[in-house]
Amino acid sequence: MQVPDLPKLIYYAIPFFVITVIIEGLIINKHSPKSYKTKDAITSIVTGLIGNVFIGLLSKILVLFLFTYTWEHIRIATIPFAWWSWLLIFFLDDFAYYWFHRISHKSRVFWASHVVHHSSEEYNLSTALRQTWTGGFYGFVFWIWLAFIGFHPIMILFQMSVSLIYQYWIHTELIHKMPKWFEYIFNTPSHHRVHHGSNPLYLDKNHAGILIIWDRMFGTFQPEVEEEKVVYGLVTNIKTYNIFRIAFQEWGNMFTDAFKAKTSFVNKLKYFLKPPGWKHDGTGILSEDLLEEWKKENR
Ligand SMILES: [Zn+2]
Ligand SMILES: [Zn+2]
Repeated sequence: MQVPDLPKLIYYAIPFFVITVIIEGLIINKHSPKSYKTKDAITSIVTGLIGNVFIGLLSKILVLFLFTYTWEHIRIATIPFAWWSWLLIFFLDDFAYYWFHRISHKSRVFWASHVVHHSSEEYNLSTALRQTWTGGFYGFVFWIWLAFIGFHPIMILFQMSVSLIYQYWIHTELIHKMPKWFEYIFNTPSHHRVHHGSNPLYLDKNHAGILIIWDRMFGTFQPEVEEEKVVYGLVTNIKTYNIFRIAFQEWGNMFTDAFKAKTSFVNKLKYFLKPPGWKHDGTGILSEDLLEEWKKENR
């Protein structure tokens, strides 16, 4: 099979990221002086640089190996590089991303790595770069079926990076709303601000990558409401600029909770699989509980 020489998108993206992060910072500071948290932005950038460029290189070698193995030895069909297959993978990758992201919020072993992206209490372009160090080593399980049904590994990885790059520009408060038709189909700054909210109304909503239609289809869509200003960050914020704590603290918490709990082995296992906040004795508070409470208060 002829494998086209696809551009290394990330090399074009990095200088673009640097320039736009600086421009956004200058605009924010011009409107309300000293409101831009430079230290927070630098923390995000360094976290992303280590997570995506250095550790990301290792995880990508693993992923490429596993996708290639699957494609070469157990694929059930062969999908060529063609206009229709690019169209198809655009939708299938985005569908895979939606479920990966939704489960990243609903199962603690995935949350332990995804929490990094939500750990800033700020919301600007630099927040987009705050990326996991550990997720790359197992998140791919949501995409490997694409190699199995016959998509070439290079095509899958390329579309995954298109999606990641798309999601950069939506991390801003400078764009209020896009045109109505665009807001209906695509993930936008407004939709993704909701996703970064710790308000009970906004928790575990809008998991979209590029297309917001998946959230609309599967019942996780929540529009940004004027009366409910987004409070960015986590339900319990970690309050640190220490990149190692940002990257690993939730892993530590998860193992501690599981080992400390005086309960059965199966229950201990559930500390890894159940949503963040879950406890074996029923005293845990989940995002649904916070929403119920909020609804009672706001009736
Ligand atoms: Zn998320
Ligand atoms: Zn985000």
